[in-house]
Amino acid sequence: MNNDEYLELCKKANRYSETYYTGKTYSTNKEQPEISDAQFDALIEKIKKYEKTHTPCKNSPTQKVGSDLTKGFKKVVHTHPMLSLSKKLNIKDLGDWLREIQSKIPGAKFVLEYKMDGAGLDLTYKKGILQKVVTRGDGIRGDDITDNAREIDGVLQKLPQKVDIQIRGEVIMPHSTFEKMISNGEDLKNCRASAIGAMRHKNSNDVKRFNLKFYSYYIVSGSNEETQEGDIELLQSLGFKTIRELLPTSDIKKILDYCEKMASKRKALDFDIDGMVIKINKKKNWKKLGESAVNPKWAMAYKFPNEVVTPIIKDVVFQVGRTGIIAPVAIYEPMLLCGTTVERASLHNKRIIDNLGISIGDQVEVIKSGEIIPQVRGIFKKAKRGKEIVFPKECPCCGEKTKFVGAYLYCTNRFCEDQVVGRISHWCSKSNMDIKGVGEETISLLYRHDLVKDVTDLYKLTKKQLLSLDGIQKTSAENILNSIEKSKSAGLGRVISGLGIGNLGSTISEEVAGKFGDIDSLMNCGEEKLKEVDIIGEKRAMQIVKFFNRKSTRKIIESLKKYGIILGERKAIKKSNDLKGKSFCVTGTLSVSRSDIQTRIKENGGMVSSSISSKTNYLISGVGGGSKLSKAEKLGIKIISENDFNKMLKGELK
Ligand SMILES: [Zn+2]
Repeated sequence: MNNDEYLELCKKANRYSETYYTGKTYSTNKEQPEISDAQFDALIEKIKKYEKTHTPCKNSPTQKVGSDLTKGFKKVVHTHPMLSLSKKLNIKDLGDWLREIQSKIPGAKFVLEYKMDGAGLDLTYKKGILQKVVTRGDGIRGDDITDNAREIDGVLQKLPQKVDIQIRGEVIMPHSTFEKMISNGEDLKNCRASAIGAMRHKNSNDVKRFNLKFYSYYIVSGSNEETQEGDIELLQSLGFKTIRELLPTSDIKKILDYCEKMASKRKALDFDIDGMVIKINKKKNWKKLGESAVNPKWAMAYKFPNEVVTPIIKDVVFQVGRTGIIAPVAIYEPMLLCGTTVERASLHNKRIIDNLGISIGDQVEVIKSGEIIPQVRGIFKKAKRGKEIVFPKECPCCGEKTKFVGAYLYCTNRFCEDQVVGRISHWCSKSNMDIKGVGEETISLLYRHDLVKDVTDLYKLTKKQLLSLDGIQKTSAENILNSIEKSKSAGLGRVISGLGIGNLGSTISEEVAGKFGDIDSLMNCGEEKLKEVDIIGEKRAMQIVKFFNRKSTRKIIESLKKYGIILGERKAIKKSNDLKGKSFCVTGTLSVSRSDIQTRIKENGGMVSSSISSKTNYLISGVGGGSKLSKAEKLGIKIISENDFNKMLKGELK
C-alpha cells in the first residue's frame, strides 16, 4: 500500500465510522451502516498494519474514536475521555494478549463482561442525586441528554446513599420490544440504531416507549474498591443493572472457552452483544499498564466471528411460499457464513428492492438471522451496468396470474403446488405437529396423486394409498401413519403454529393456547382480547382475526375436529397438590418447552398465568427472560430458574 492508498482508506474509514456511531448513513438503506462491523474492523486492521511502519496521519481513524454528536443538544466535555476498546477478531489473538498480560503481571486475573451493542452513556451523581447524563460523542465531547435519560430503565434518579459518583455503561433496546414495535408496523432497522435514535428524541416522553435499558460496567470516580469485581458489586448495591459473566480467573483456557461458547449462545439473549470484554481485575494494574490516547491497555474486546458476506448477485429466482407470497431470492457463488455454506439470500419484497435500488450484478451484504434463509441487508457496491429485477406476471409454479398486495407479490391460486406443499410441510415440521417421514418430496408426491390438498387430508391417508407411491415401503408407510396418529394429541399450541395463524412462532403459539384454552374461544375472541397477550400487537391481532374469518379456515378446523385432533390444551393429570395456591409464570428459553413446564405446574396443583401481575408468586425464567423478567423485578416477584422449579417439585425448595 502506498501513502495515497493509505490516506484514501483513512477517509473511507472515517466516513463509515460516523455512520456507525450515529446510526445514520449515506446509502439509501437508512439507519443501516454502509458496511458491516466485520468489514469495518478489517479496514481498521489494514490501516493499523500500515501505521506499524509509518507515522499515522492526523486524520487516521486509529487516532480518534467515532462520534455520535447530534445537533440540537448541549455539548459537554467529558471529565475523562470516553475511550474505545482495542479489539481482537479471533480467539488466537485474544489468547496471545492474555498471555502477554500475564507475562507482565504474573498470575493476573481477569473478569469477563458482555460487549453490549448499544450506545455508551456517562452518568454523574452528586450526593446520590442524578446531575448529568452525557453520550459518548466523539470520546472527548458528548451530548447532554439528561432529560431524555430519565426515561431509561436503569438510569436511577436517586441512589440509596448520598454519594458522589460518576459511572459509565451501555443503553440497549430489548429484542422483545423491537419485535413488538416492528409487528405494530414501525419502521425500525435494528436495536442499536433504534436505541441511539430514541435517546435523541426532542420530546423526552417519546423515549419511554422504546423501553431502553441501561447497564453499568465502569466507575470513573467515587469508588474506593480495589478491583473491577468490587466496582461491579458496588454498582449493584447502589441499584444499577450490571452483567457479571465470569468472575475473576487467571485461567486463560476458561476465558477463551467462554468467549467461544457465548458466540453461539448470545442469540438466546434479549439484547444484542457483538463480543466479550475482558478486563484485568486489579485496578492498581490498570495504572501500571496505562492507556494510549484512544484505548485503555487494561481491557480488551473480543469480537464474535464474521456474520456478513458480500457476494455479487448472479441471478434472482422467485419462490412460492405457503402463504402464497412469491419471494425474490438472490443467487450467488457459495460463501461461508456463520460456519455454513450459503448461495442464496432472501431479497424480501419489491418495496425493499426498490428502496435499496438493487439490481442483478450488484455486490450486496448478506446476513444470517436466526435459523431462516440468509437475507440481503443492503448494497455493498453498485454494479455499473446492473440488470433490473423483474417480477413475474405468472406464478413460476402453477402459471396462475400473480398480483401485488402492498409490497408483496402473490400467487392467487390457493391450490398451487408450492403453496400446498409449503403449508403441509410447515404443519408436519418438528416444532409444530412433528410428523416424521413426511418431507417436501413425499408431500409433492401425495399432492400429484391427488391425495392431499390441505393438512386435514393427512388424517384420511390409508396404508394402501401410501404404498402406491414411489419409494414408500411397508415399514415407512406404517411409521408415517403412526406418526400422523400421534400428532393428534400434540396440543393446541402446536396446532396454532402449524396452521401458521397470524404467522405466530411456536413460543407465542403456546402462550396463546395457554390463554384461550381451546380453539373455539380463540376463534371467537376478537382483537382486544388477543392484544392482552404480551407480544401480540395491533397488526398481528388483525391477521389472526382475519385468518379465522376465512371460510377455508373454518372448514379446516371443522375437519380437524372430525378427525379427532385435540384442539384444547393438553389435559393435566393431577399428581400432587404440592404447588396448591401458588401461581407461576414462565418466560425465556428452557431445556423443555414452556407448555411442558406449564403442564407440570398444573399436574401438581399450581396455577399458570400467561402474564405477570402482582398476584403471580413465581416467575420461572430461562435464558433471555425479556419484558416479563423486568416486570417481575419491578413488582418484586420471586424469580426462579428451571432448576429451582425442579427442586421445588422434589420438595427440596420451599
Ligand atoms: Zn402458483
